[in-house]
Amino acid sequence: MLGPFAAAAHAATTQAVVSLTFDDGDEDQYTNAFPVLQQHGLHGTFYIITGFVGDNSGNMTLSQLHSLYNAGNEIGGHTVLHPDLAEVSASEATREICDGRSTLLKWGFPVTDFAYPYADINSTLTGIAQHCGFNSARGLGQLETPYGCQKCAPAESIPSATPYDLNAPGAVTDQWTLSDLESVVTQAESSGGWVPITFHNICNNDCDPYSVSPSLFSSFIQWLSTQPVSVKTVRQVVGGSVHPAVSAPQVSPAASGANGVVNPSLETVSQYASRVPYCWTHISTGTNTTSFTETSKAHTGSVAETMTVSSYSSGQARLITTQDLGQCAPAAVSGNHYSASAWYHGTVPTQFAFWYRDTIGGWHYWTASPHFPASSGWTRATWTTPAAPTGATALSFGLQISAVGTLTLDDYSLVGSGISPASPAASLTSPSHGGTLYLIVGIVAVVFLAIVIFWLLRVRARRRRPMPSGPPRGSARPSPSSASAYQPVPPPPATGYWAPQSPPLPPPRPYGPPPHRPTADPGAGYPPPSRPPANTRGAPSPPVSGPPWSPYPPDRQSRPYPPDRQDRRDRRWTDESD
Ligand SMILES: [Zn+2]
Repeated sequence: MLGPFAAAAHAATTQAVVSLTFDDGDEDQYTNAFPVLQQHGLHGTFYIITGFVGDNSGNMTLSQLHSLYNAGNEIGGHTVLHPDLAEVSASEATREICDGRSTLLKWGFPVTDFAYPYADINSTLTGIAQHCGFNSARGLGQLETPYGCQKCAPAESIPSATPYDLNAPGAVTDQWTLSDLESVVTQAESSGGWVPITFHNICNNDCDPYSVSPSLFSSFIQWLSTQPVSVKTVRQVVGGSVHPAVSAPQVSPAASGANGVVNPSLETVSQYASRVPYCWTHISTGTNTTSFTETSKAHTGSVAETMTVSSYSSGQARLITTQDLGQCAPAAVSGNHYSASAWYHGTVPTQFAFWYRDTIGGWHYWTASPHFPASSGWTRATWTTPAAPTGATALSFGLQISAVGTLTLDDYSLVGSGISPASPAASLTSPSHGGTLYLIVGIVAVVFLAIVIFWLLRVRARRRRPMPSGPPRGSARPSPSSASAYQPVPPPPATGYWAPQSPPLPPPRPYGPPPHRPTADPGAGYPPPSRPPANTRGAPSPPVSGPPWSPYPPDRQSRPYPPDRQDRRDRRWTDESD
């Protein structure tokens, strides 16, 4: 691992350390980067999205992960489904971080290090990463590169002063040249310290804005192996023991006869996705031109959604429930049947499409209903599913169309059969701790509640993200305490996070246009192009104490939105034969 000058280098405390990190588990990392690392006797850290492993959509298989690990590489955590964790509830973020880690442990990887999707970090998330048993969690964009953060430090310290907010240069993009890559190493050679370099795709033909070609990667690794630096995995730098798996609060199925859909009448708009109903997803796959609009001509309430397909060659336009780990997706029981219904009117036939979540959190296409005819007036589509597949833990569904025309939707429902009433509180159990855990949780819960109350009073005023405000969705609605009703989930105590979890979070109260992230982030919405790029923080925050929040790298604002989230989903939507 050491270059020819290593013997002459200064003591280990001053010699620069480089980590080669690879995000998202893209298969081309295995095919194009892994052999180069092996050739030079180097090892990297691969941050894996567990719900995407082996999904036949350009991600590594479990067997490939084992090959990487057995060759000396580190397998790190990168959530189950790669959401922007700052945009989900603390319970959902805990599921994403803890469950991803638990799955990697179950697969046999002694996982100790984490990377935040989109490098979006706040104090709640750093606490959750620690709570879930990780020893470090990596950000991006806080160290100097030729493309950003040019007044930032050249290297992270060893040990890091902020192990759950590890400093790293912005992710490598297709703009980077060999000399750019070399520069982040040579600047650390001058300063000492640690530089974790982050790659995404290693591919030809510029397959992704966050990619480098195999030849450039190979040239860089060849050069790196001649340098007086130590190349280590993140775990080799951070150290620490492998902690046991930590259970996250799971969401119980709705009581028998109850509608499991969150925001079923589409009245609440997403805080983060402009004009998308909370817990719903607009999707169009294939080749067509589709738009989604809010209409005040609702079946009930103030709003409904209209899908308009203006040109069509293939695919579907859909409004479906968000596929997540429980904040939105109704929990389900395998073997049970589900009765779906929705009110619609439109110019073309429509049908329900269904997906299910498996036991590790991955989502798969399941089935579709027969078609319902076009209707000029509000009509109710109802359909009862077959028995939910073995291993299904949740469902996602919605109506779709596949022709030029319009479809207006409102008032969805999903009711299961044969499910016993949900327990009043989500379980928080750990087989490895047993009864002691309940005692600890009880004590911690009391302390935590006290801290939460104290914290809420203190922190509201200086919360980084503004509180949602403005009128509720739909102009005709009264405005019942819309802004004040939304309770942001407070960050955990600084030392250890063990949030007693309540049942599924109630949907936030209606609020108006999505709030924007403050300053230096001209377009805070989702989706692209207004969303901040993945390799930056979501927003600069006012300095508190310790190191200042790094400047927003200006170059990133003009970069295309990293396609990992959108592209992965698009690939999955189109791959319905699986
Ligand atoms: Zn990622």
